[in-house]
Amino acid sequence: MKLVVVWIVVFVLVVVVIVLAAWLPTRVLRRRNIKTKGSSDVVVRCSKGHLFTTIWIAGASLKAVRLGFKRYQHCPVGHHWSVVTPLPVDQLSDADRIEAARVHDIRIP
Ligand SMILES: [Zn+2]
Repeated sequence: MKLVVVWIVVFVLVVVVIVLAAWLPTRVLRRRNIKTKGSSDVVVRCSKGHLFTTIWIAGASLKAVRLGFKRYQHCPVGHHWSVVTPLPVDQLSDADRIEAARVHDIRIP
């Protein structure tokens, strides 16, 4: 009986850690005005200056290598691999938003 209780406690702790690992980075993105509620799309700029929209889900990245707050992924505008940086929505000009909306990379996080 004690073993069952231990496994239940371990399971609950693992679930809590997984939820926090996904929730905290998302909250940071929202506080920095990078991610809006209800959307997984984020405007990013590659190291060569190209703007595009990508899916950015905290804790999940199948097409990119996570480098803290940046990611190394394919740039669909310049067709090269690059470090991309998410940009705060409130600091984008209308021209930047239009340019970023023109190109969305593959729909995989
Ligand atoms: Zn680029």
